[in-house]
Amino acid sequence: MKIFNTLSRRKEEFVPIEEGRVRMYVCGPTVYNLIHIGNARPMIVFDTFRRYLEHKGYKVDYVSNFTDVDDKIIAKAIEEGVTSEEISKRYIEECKKDMEGMNVRPATVHPLATQEIDGMIAMIRKLIDEGYAYNVNGTVYFRTRKFKEYGKLSWKNLDDLRSGFREIKVTGEEQKEDPLDFVLWKPKKEGEPAWDSPWSDGRPGWHIECSVMAKHYLGDTIDIHAGGEDLVFPHHENEIAQSECANGVPFANYWMHNAFLTIDKVKMSKSLGNFFTVRDIAEKYDLQVLRLFMLSAHYRSPLNFSADLMESSKSALERIRNAAERLGDLMKSAKDTEPSEEEKAMAAEAEAFVRKFDEKMDDDCNTADALSVVFELVKYANQHVNEECAAATVKVFADTLAQLCDILGIITEKKEEILDAEIEQLIEERQAARKAKNFARADEIRDELAAKGILLKDTREGVKWTRA
Ligand code: AMP
Ligand code: ZN
Repeated sequence: MKIFNTLSRRKEEFVPIEEGRVRMYVCGPTVYNLIHIGNARPMIVFDTFRRYLEHKGYKVDYVSNFTDVDDKIIAKAIEEGVTSEEISKRYIEECKKDMEGMNVRPATVHPLATQEIDGMIAMIRKLIDEGYAYNVNGTVYFRTRKFKEYGKLSWKNLDDLRSGFREIKVTGEEQKEDPLDFVLWKPKKEGEPAWDSPWSDGRPGWHIECSVMAKHYLGDTIDIHAGGEDLVFPHHENEIAQSECANGVPFANYWMHNAFLTIDKVKMSKSLGNFFTVRDIAEKYDLQVLRLFMLSAHYRSPLNFSADLMESSKSALERIRNAAERLGDLMKSAKDTEPSEEEKAMAAEAEAFVRKFDEKMDDDCNTADALSVVFELVKYANQHVNEECAAATVKVFADTLAQLCDILGIITEKKEEILDAEIEQLIEERQAARKAKNFARADEIRDELAAKGILLKDTREGVKWTRA
């Protein structure tokens, strides 16, 4: 299997540190708001890669953090007059709901930065002791020029970087020895969450969090470190500097970065305001449509969000689901006869589809081409598997389709799913019926929703609903 490694900018054969095992770390979101579908891209693509590694027989330790201490979280907490913890807890829960909706499996561990402060203090202390970091009035900086390999991931040259930085004077950071030095620990400002440390009451910088969480759960050298391409510099470059100076061994053997999800060819981001949350999409689509949309491009190619592409993903999903349903129906009536020679050849064909799928995925996780193989399989099954086939033959195709879809994390069962927007609309209609004293219609709507697993609760603030 080959992986494009950002470090070498080449596709490399994947060799794990330990046979049969993969240690993988994926940078997770900063939790101050609902995640947008740009944030969902790394979640979906690396979850798919994890599933594929497991299909190949690896045991995967998959760690993905939540950054739960950050300026944006603090700002949101101040805005709402609540604690930072309340904000981060709320959005971690919301993020987990979105992950479930997108069929992104929970990580082996989801560490929280705020629960790993001791490890961060230990690593910073070690970096200071060994001359890689220094404390100025309670702020600890990493001495970038001391790490000779700085720039190896982003392919940046230290001198170019330094001349680029010369003009920029960052307020409050004039005490740095070098403009390239970055913060490991910063003293608290009034009202901010803070922890005790040898240097000041304060909090860690963002980069040290991931270095420490990866070390804690996966060890000093990990197999794969992944995230969006905006993280290559400075986040991942800084993680490498900290980890390699503190641990004395390479940090990650393979670095994988997904390209951006764009909208009108511009990166989707919170700060630009050009985003859709996963929740927005869920109002209109089954989130499996979003998943299929994400997988329809190679993870290193930019992917532009559009209504047209979502519509074609929607019909693509239906095509898969119809085929799965048809095979399921055929199974029910198929006879337990011996498959004919022709059917044996068909079963061999099914195996060939799996091999082709694996080849595509082995080539740097090419989900776009792997998906095309799924559609070839669907087409073949639609054309060749019929009422004449033995149960064993139908089963080969039903299982193969289920297996490939499962690797991609695509749920093939048709759900009688009702979208949030439809629920809201029915609730409004029920309120109107009640107002018009049409209680029969109001009850009918309540029953209709109940049949779909939606429970209504009348409260003083209006009607609340939950999925059973
Ligand atoms: P953040 O919460 O901004 O730290 O982002 C969490 C993850 O989402 C990181 O891996 C980012 O690189 C990734 N990400 C953010 N915006 C996009 C986007 N528009 N397209 C793809 N990945 C993104
Ligand atoms: Zn990170």
